[in-house]
This record gives sequence, C-alpha cells and structure tokens, in this order.
Amino acid sequence: MRSNFAYDTDRLVQEDQTHILHPWGDLGEPASRNPMIIAEAEGVYVYNSDGHRMLDGIGGLWCVNIGYGREEMVQAIADQVRKLPYCSNFGITATPKSIEFGTRLAGYTPGDLKRVLFTTGGSTAVDSALRFVQFYFNSTGRPNKKHIITRNYAYHGSTYLSASVSGKPGDRGNLDFVTDTVHHLPVPDPYRRPEGMTEEEFCDLKVADLENKILELGPENVGCFIAEPLLASGGVIVPPAGYQKRTRDVCSKYHVLYISDEVVTGFGRLGEIFASEPVFEIVPDIITSAKGLTSGYIPLGAVFISERLYGEVSGEAARGKQFANGFTYSGHPVACAAGLKNLDIIESENILGHVRDLGNYFIESLSKLEELPIVGIVRGSHLVACVECVADKKTKEPVPASFDIGNRIGVHARARGLMVRPMGHLAVLSPPLIVTREQIDTIVEIMEQAINAAVDDLVREGLW
Ligand code: PMP
Repeated sequence: MRSNFAYDTDRLVQEDQTHILHPWGDLGEPASRNPMIIAEAEGVYVYNSDGHRMLDGIGGLWCVNIGYGREEMVQAIADQVRKLPYCSNFGITATPKSIEFGTRLAGYTPGDLKRVLFTTGGSTAVDSALRFVQFYFNSTGRPNKKHIITRNYAYHGSTYLSASVSGKPGDRGNLDFVTDTVHHLPVPDPYRRPEGMTEEEFCDLKVADLENKILELGPENVGCFIAEPLLASGGVIVPPAGYQKRTRDVCSKYHVLYISDEVVTGFGRLGEIFASEPVFEIVPDIITSAKGLTSGYIPLGAVFISERLYGEVSGEAARGKQFANGFTYSGHPVACAAGLKNLDIIESENILGHVRDLGNYFIESLSKLEELPIVGIVRGSHLVACVECVADKKTKEPVPASFDIGNRIGVHARARGLMVRPMGHLAVLSPPLIVTREQIDTIVEIMEQAINAAVDDLVREGLW
C-alpha cells in the first residue's frame, strides 16, 4: 500500500465512464464495472490510484518483460527525445537508432530473416507481413496465391486484416471481416482432443488439417499460413509436440509462406529472443514481433523478412516498384532507443537464462491448482500460463459464461494483491520476466485463494 497517493479516484472513474471507450470494454455494463485506475508501477508491482499494490501477473498485456520503473529506460528515452524525438522511416530516411536496432535484432533472428520492417505494434506488424506476402506473390508473377490459412482461437491483432486472420469466437460480434481469402483451421488444442486419441495421433490430425486445406484450395492459390507458436490470447494453447515443425514442412512442400507471430512468445517469454527456432525448431519465412520488443515502454512492432523473399522483390528487376506500406511512426527513433536499451537489459541481466531456469517451476507450481474441483487444466510454457475452469472435469465442459468465473477470480486476486487476466472461463498469467521464485509462490498462493473465493461466490448464489 502506498499512502502518499493524491489521485482523485472518484473523479477519474466518473470521467473515464463519461468519455473513454475502452478496447474490448463491455459496452453493456460500463457502469457496473468500474475501471481499475493503475497509477504507478515499480518492478513487478503496479499500484492503483488508491495506492493498493498488486503483483502484475500479466506483465501489462504480456509485454512489460523487464518490469516497471527501469531508470536506464527512462534515461535512454529522455536522451533520444532530446536529440531527435521524431524522424520518419519512409523512403530513404532513417535514424541512427532505427539502423542500430534493426542491425542488432538481425543478430538474433533465425535463418536468413535479416530484413526488418518496423511498424507501430503487433497488429500493424501482422497486417504488414500479410501485405508483404501479397506484394511478394503479385511481384513474382503468382497473383493467385491470395489465400491465407489461420486457426480458430488465434489472435493476431485488431486492424481489419489482422482481426480477420484472428479466430477467437468471442471477438466476432457485430464486426465485419475479410472472409473470401481467409480460412480458419480447427484449433490444435491437445486438451480437447478426441477421447482415446494420443497426442501424437492428434498432432497427425492437426497437421493433416493444414495439408488438406492447402490441397482443397489448390497450392497455387495459397499464399501463407500464419501461426502463433502457442496460441496466447486464445487461452495459452500449446499445440502438440512437433506440430510447428511439421506444419512448417507442409508449408515448404507446397510453397506456402510461413508467418510465425511471435508478438507474445518473443523477447524472453519462452526464454529466447525468438522462440521459433530454438524452442520449436522452425525457421519461418517471416516473423512478427511487438510487445516485449520494447517491454511496452513505447509502442513498436517489427516484421522480419527472409533475405530470399526480399531478394526476389528488390534489386534491378524491381526498379520503380514500391512496397507502399508503412506508418508515420514506423521505426520511431524513441521507440528504437527504448528497444535497444531493453535488449541491453535482457542481455546484461541474463533474463533469458532466468526464464529458462524458472519456467518449469512456474508451470509446475501452478499445476497444483488442477487439484481444485473447478480447474480443468493449467497449461503453458516458461512464463506464460492459463488456468481453465470447467464445469465437469470429465466432459471438460467450460464453466458457463454467465457464471463470470474469470472476472470473479480476477476481483478476488486483485483484492489479495495480484493482477490476472480474466478471459471468460480462463485466467491468464504472464508476469514480468524478472519475477522471482518467491513471487511465483505468491502468485500460486493467491490464485488458489482467489479461485476458492470465486467458487464460494458461486455456491452462495446457488450456481455451483
Ligand atoms: N499478435 C499476437 C500474437 C498478439 O498476442 C497480439 C496482441 N495481444 C497482436 C498480434 C496484436 O498486437 P497489438 O495489440 O500490439 O497490435
């Protein structure tokens, strides 16, 4: 608790409710869900406007990887604002920081993904990657390769195209999407594989889903497959072992480009800067990144493109052809300065090693929540996890949406000093990567208490 806070919470709440349209806000009940005003933060902790301290179990929105309040970041950002607060990355202009950051990042990318296109965040990175695929096939005489294959429960962003390739059913209400060229495969969720099927057999089935879809559309019509290595916002769904490698092989076989969306999995969340190759044994054609790229201190996204692809659409033959895609703030120098300092911190504090050391402990400790009657599964990898609540462990039937179990867990956890991310019947955790073993123990302890308190609510209301 901080007692020296001078925020007027009542006024802030009232003005928020009067003027602010929250992304993913529930428009049906804005008044009953008072906004939580987060006013300050330090290390792994955030403070609400009344001074109540909470361990940030979601790391902002899976992005504050190095934790809050880093003086080095403040300094790097301030220095850059003083020197050059803005310069576009359009055409031939560049800045020392965008060049330095792009070059440094290329040292971490797998294979020949050495060409960096900066964007403003994850959605614009995904949009730009998909548009680059269009540009690539149009430029190389294969304009029919327009179809995009993706998966249900994927999340790739909130622009028209990135939302179209996303596949969370709950995000589809009252909005329009690109449908003629976008195809969703069933989610590769081993928890809900058919009864009696082994994980290996399930993997065969999910890989076949992709191959069959490519064959159904005709390989000559399919441009790319886009996939998060694990489906983060869809509920931290970790596909069966070998799935990423085998789907990558299918794509190579049919000349379908593979986009690995590492917006969540990159920058240490799975113990690597890019997880695609070291964790999942794939070298994609394109990687998208954001969030941990700057640890959320300043918005930035990036697309990493294979030199092979870039080579085919650049040079003499491409003279006069522009890749007309980009944003005012692409490669923003202040964001790149923040990104460089973020990398310095990740490297100098061996944050990747820390995540590799603690990752198992995090998942194993949380797994004990599976003993609770309402918890169907705890799943995840390294420092990202999800607790799924089910009405019946045998049938795996999710807790009905009307029970609002995720939000109930969220409220009880916050009261006890932990922020989690409720998503329907799920509670997601992705703490800053500097979290300690003791703090993990606290997370697990509070989660257990919060889940029990939420179940008590249901019992009191005659729902459980
Ligand atoms: N891709 C993935 C995998 C994501 O999780 C997200 C955001 N949660 C995005 C893309 C979109 O990123 P942004 O919100 O920065 O636009």
